[in-house]
Formats: sequence, C-alpha cells, structure tokens
Amino acid sequence: MLMRIPVLALIAILITATDDPPAATPPPVGEFLVIPLRLHVLTAEDLPEVDCKLTDDDLKRILGKVNKVWHQAGVHWGLESIVREPAARQERFRVARELSGKSGVPLGAFRSLMPEKTRAETGLNVYYIHKFSVNGVYLGDRIAFVQETAKLREVKGGIDEPIPRVTAHELGHALGLPHRQAMTNLLASGTTGTTLNTAEVETARATAKTVPGVMTHMEIQTRAETEESPARRAALARWLEEITN
Ligand SMILES: [Zn+2]
Repeated sequence: MLMRIPVLALIAILITATDDPPAATPPPVGEFLVIPLRLHVLTAEDLPEVDCKLTDDDLKRILGKVNKVWHQAGVHWGLESIVREPAARQERFRVARELSGKSGVPLGAFRSLMPEKTRAETGLNVYYIHKFSVNGVYLGDRIAFVQETAKLREVKGGIDEPIPRVTAHELGHALGLPHRQAMTNLLASGTTGTTLNTAEVETARATAKTVPGVMTHMEIQTRAETEESPARRAALARWLEEITN
C-alpha cells in the first residue's frame, strides 16, 4: 500500500536531501592524528591593515572551535605556540601598497610580511593579520593567512563565528581538500558551513599522515610519559585531554 506523504513534508524531505550530510561519527579516540599548529599574530604599528589585535584568549577560543570542526575527521590541531611578532619587510609592503593603488595589495605582498625565523618547521603555521582582500588564503608550504575581520554568509547549522571557520577552511586546503560548493560544507567558499563528507575525511587524513611532525594518538601517549621537557610533556597531555573533551 502506498503511503500518503503530504506535499509540504515531501518538499521538506527534498530540501533536506540537498543539504550536505555530515560525515559519519568521528573515528575512535585511538585513531586521532595530532598536527602541531603555530599561531602567529602579526603586528605593524604603521600598517593598520596588517596590525592584528587578537589576544591569546581569542586564539584559544578560535582554536577550540577549529578543533570542534576537525574532530569529525579525527584530526586535532595541537597548539604548539603563539608567536606575537612585528611583520617582516614592512617597507616593502608599503611600497607594494602604493604601487597597487585601488586594485588592492597583491597577496604575494602579504606573504612577504611573514618573518622567516619564527616559522615552525613541523606542523602548520597560521598568520593572523587585520584585513586583506580575502578572508583567508592557503599559500602552500604549510602556511596560511587569515584576516581577523573575516565575514561569512550564514548557513543552516553553520558555526557562530567567522575566524574559526576561515581558519578551519584554510587548514582543509593544507590537508589537500579543494573547494566544494555545497553551502553547509567546510570547503564551500565564504559560508559558515563546517561539514566534511566521508571522501574529504579520507583525503584529509591521508594528507595529515604526511605532514612533518604529525603524531598518532598512541605516539602522543608514549611521548607524554617519556618526554623530558616539562613544558612539552604538559602540551602533549593537554592535547590528549582536548581530544576526549
Ligand atoms: Zn578556500
């Protein structure tokens, strides 16, 4: 016998079906991969578009939300350090700005603001600046830039704050994911969406395993017991705790 479905309910089902379904439940804790993350806050007294005002508390809140997004893939970003530093080559940036006029400063000029010496050799580096022509960009070489003035289009079930979403999105590019324009998806452009599908989870995890400095959950457990530096031991223990929270 045919079930009678009211037209409105049917429309609702069809609309729901076009939403991007969230990935299956996150992998068990033992399968988590942890990637060290160094967060850089670039400052520049005379360059308002560069000078970033994010506080350590802001960064910790942002990273907490980034990790909530990435836990669906069994990937955890372990805060390695926060580096607050003057942007490099500010004079060169000023010249590039004057030459570019109304077309806006090219992204390459922003890359030159990155101080070389403080760049982490393992894991990922994210640089926060005040404002540029995009919300964020992944530059390759495990380097991403994010503007603290990021703005996004709200979508159903999306995240409540732009910066963590933009950060999580750029980290997605770092883990080999291209754009996919389903509104509620993390890799959609400019929306608050945060979901990943199973294929994306597979790709991201496969890439994560190749990132220098990545650790499995078991490696972290072992090192948390044997690590000699108390600060490093505390960081490892904190990452383990963050995964289960
Ligand atoms: Zn993107």
